Amino acid sequence: MDLKSLIRDIPDFPKPGILFRDITTLLRDAEGLRYITDLFAEKCVDLRPEFVVGMESRGFIFGSLLAYKLGAGFIPVRKKGKLPGAVYSIEYALEYGKDCLEIHQDALQADSRVLIVDDLIATGGTATATADLIVKIGCELVGFGFIIELQDLQGRKNLPDVPIISLVQY
Ligand code: 5GP
Repeated sequence: MDLKSLIRDIPDFPKPGILFRDITTLLRDAEGLRYITDLFAEKCVDLRPEFVVGMESRGFIFGSLLAYKLGAGFIPVRKKGKLPGAVYSIEYALEYGKDCLEIHQDALQADSRVLIVDDLIATGGTATATADLIVKIGCELVGFGFIIELQDLQGRKNLPDVPIISLVQY
């Protein structure tokens, strides 16, 4: 299946000069959604995660689908102030300014096998911050899974040395 034909390019979003890869057109296509979910699961199954951790908000969609397929639990990593229970937080640098991600303190136990999933890797900042949270808890990070990888930005170079799976590369 031609996955790139299901991903829409939107110029100048969210800022002038940025070409945004829009995955909502992939999500609305029933065959495409099933195909990508099955492919993602096939590529990640050997990592044997007990938990999939997905980042707000598009990581929730693909992370949940993957967790279901792999028989794993799903854990959300959210922006600051969204999770109701006690959290661990991590701040990370953006191009301009900084952001903060949080995870429930009781969501994971040390030694759990965790796969981190997001829709897209650009610089790798979001995935690296999430990995730091997971590793600080003492979990075993078994890999990263992304639907889209923006290869020019070389985000994978910034990630810890574990398997990195991406399905569509630009
Ligand atoms: P990074 O932290 O790797 O620089 O950026 C990745 C994060 O930004 C991901 O959470 C991803 O959802 C979001 N993101 C950045 N650019 C795009 C894009 O072009 N399309 C989509 N769907 N998400 C993007």
